[in-house]
Amino acid sequence: MKTYKKAGAGKRGFSESGVNSISPLLLTEIFDNFSEAVIVADASRRMVYVNSAAEVLFGYSVDELLGKETRLLYADESEYSEQGRKRYNAASNLATKTYRVAYRRASGERFLGLTTGAAMRSKTGGVAGFIGIVRPARNADNSLETLQKVHTITSDVILSDNHKIASLLRLGLRHFGFEIAILSRVVGNDYIVEYCVDGRNELKPGTRFDVSGTCCEYTLDAQKTEGWCCAGKGDIRRHPCYQTMQIESYIGSPVWVNGEAYGTLNFASCSPAEPFSRDDYILMGLLSDTVSYFLYKQIFEEEILALARTDELTGLPNRRATWERLNDLMEISNRSGFHLTVLSVDLDYFKQINDQWGHAVGDMALGAFARIAGELGRKTDFCGRVGGEEFLFVFPGATLDDGWEFGDQLRRELRLTPVEPVKGEFFTLSVSVGIAMHESGESLANLLARVDAALYRAKQGGRDRICQ
Ligand code: GH3
Ligand code: MG
Ligand code: MG
Repeated sequence: MKTYKKAGAGKRGFSESGVNSISPLLLTEIFDNFSEAVIVADASRRMVYVNSAAEVLFGYSVDELLGKETRLLYADESEYSEQGRKRYNAASNLATKTYRVAYRRASGERFLGLTTGAAMRSKTGGVAGFIGIVRPARNADNSLETLQKVHTITSDVILSDNHKIASLLRLGLRHFGFEIAILSRVVGNDYIVEYCVDGRNELKPGTRFDVSGTCCEYTLDAQKTEGWCCAGKGDIRRHPCYQTMQIESYIGSPVWVNGEAYGTLNFASCSPAEPFSRDDYILMGLLSDTVSYFLYKQIFEEEILALARTDELTGLPNRRATWERLNDLMEISNRSGFHLTVLSVDLDYFKQINDQWGHAVGDMALGAFARIAGELGRKTDFCGRVGGEEFLFVFPGATLDDGWEFGDQLRRELRLTPVEPVKGEFFTLSVSVGIAMHESGESLANLLARVDAALYRAKQGGRDRICQ
């Protein structure tokens, strides 16, 4: 068998040295009967030698390979460039290491190959070419390595949960040798891409589909891991995921968060793949459970964070959240010069309400006040409960006059909305209000002191009034 094309090799040459000093005949002699695929490329990653095992493994004839870039052998462009960046470059210090690479056969079928690669150097020390020995990875090799990586990712103490989810998606892609990974959120009939890695650059987070147009329809119906590797040859070829998206190979699992269906984790390819093994199904379930855990943790942490900033009785932002928000608005006001007016509002004689009606009615009155105040404000306005019966209103873009107007409206609304603790018995709430407008460069403490002083004057002046 002719496995070396002398004329071509001379032109592509290793003129600098090393590799052309290895006789082509010697390469043929050493590697032609080798049972594993051997590919020799020059410094620009063009193939100058392939043995017969490589022809068989990749499904090309030697003439179809020689002179071509090794790009032809990789599963996709991103795998080709990643290997170039990591290993096959002029700065390479690649020395017979073994790693996994996603390849593609002439038939389009993808497979993972355990690759042992080395850089070949010229006499002057530069990289003159590369040699790679490839054998298809066995499932057991893949599974063990993937498991180790799941552990490395999940136990990392620095990576954020978002990064961990994204890394698990990339890991799944490598494991299956596919080009599309999606974590979806499914709400009703909507399939929303939340995280994705797409070697074709077609999908991005936020992309929406109808569930019935996606492969995940099967996974969601079955409520378990589903997979197929040659859609074109089976019943799936009539499904829109094959007809419109040409998904040939797919494996996906439902994602459950806190006992509820959340969406799916799935990996897919537009090329046919080798049949999935039992290990693949187990790993798919493991990946989706791991992703579920990080989603749950994220949702839980967000809830805790929201709880820490919310007043339980009224549902309004608490003192800490109110001050933070006010501080942010003051900074924006300093930069952009827009007006910012704050109102400090304290319910009058509230102790008497508790004394007369009991603490539970006092609580109910506080809730009623928060509702009335909430209905009056604009969307951009902001109200927080900063003390027992003290509230701070923040009005971006508002002048002192606007603040007065709101204060009057609030007082009027309270008069018109009596609290009815017992059927047929009523009382009305009244408030004292201090107003101040933020002055450019003023500190939070200063603004709060001014508005509290104004509130104090309103109390001193007899309550149920506004002062500035
Ligand atoms: P003033 O007009 O001077 O503001 O009189 P006041 O009675 O409203 O003021 P004071 O500061 O003397 O009393 C406030 C009362 O608010 C005392 C406290 O028991 C009550 N209070 C604070 N937080 C709550 C709460 O969460 N629920 C109920 N029911 N009462 C509360
Ligand atoms: Mg009070
Ligand atoms: Mg008070």
